[in-house]
Amino acid sequence: MPNYIPDDADQRRAVAPVICYPTETLPTPDLALYRRAREGAEKIAEVVVPPREAATFRARAGQFFRISSIEGPQVGDFNLWNAHDLSERFYSGKTRALHGTHLGAGARMWSSFPHLRPMATIIDDTLGWYGIDEYGGSVHDVIGTRCDPYTNNLLSGGQYHHCCHSNLTRALADELGISLAEAEPHVHDVLNVFMCTGFTRDTGQYFMKASPVRPGDYLEFFAEIDVLGALSACPGGDCSAEHSSDTAACHPLLVEVFATKGDALKGWRSPEPNGYDRRHGR
Ligand SMILES: [Zn+2]
Repeated sequence: MPNYIPDDADQRRAVAPVICYPTETLPTPDLALYRRAREGAEKIAEVVVPPREAATFRARAGQFFRISSIEGPQVGDFNLWNAHDLSERFYSGKTRALHGTHLGAGARMWSSFPHLRPMATIIDDTLGWYGIDEYGGSVHDVIGTRCDPYTNNLLSGGQYHHCCHSNLTRALADELGISLAEAEPHVHDVLNVFMCTGFTRDTGQYFMKASPVRPGDYLEFFAEIDVLGALSACPGGDCSAEHSSDTAACHPLLVEVFATKGDALKGWRSPEPNGYDRRHGR
């Protein structure tokens, strides 16, 4: 084995990191306006997501939706689409690049190319106090994908049908009246609501630990465009032990939608799709 370690290895490692996407240049959401508008908003819909199942909901641009823990600690795998065009959907990778590994108040769920615009903005997070723990863990991650029956089959064998991927697939198929085969390709990498995750410092492996969420905790969003959402109550429950099985204790999640009144959002406009001209140099 040749020795590849250069003489200046330590020096090279010691170079200070540079933030890839400084957020100072990102369009800033007017959180004060959103929160003011939210005060006078009224609940117009709610859906309870049963354990190990998923449910869909819709919110119009300018409305709010809240995901709440009820009954017991539970994490949710969340997908979001443009309600009128499923090809515009939540882009977890770019959201991670822009906002970091975990989302909190002020962060936004960005959409896929060529749209790349905010689909929803987080206005409130009762777990904001958690911060980053001693293991490097935090909540509401955009680093995981979603538990799925393919990886489960690869690692453990067998057929398990209540992974978040399958739950989201069934829920979307039912919502749109399409087949499972038609629905499945629209399911995408999620925002892991309430899930506590990170990467181990020594081996860089994706880890999860018991979510700090308790009944009454919530994550609340402002819908920037008309959205269709699907939320799965993960079979991992609070994800303290395992997922992709019926072993963990699971609880429902609640989604509520709120509409503002009058001109509460005066001055706000739904964001346009991204301004790049798509000529790609030709
Ligand atoms: Zn899951």
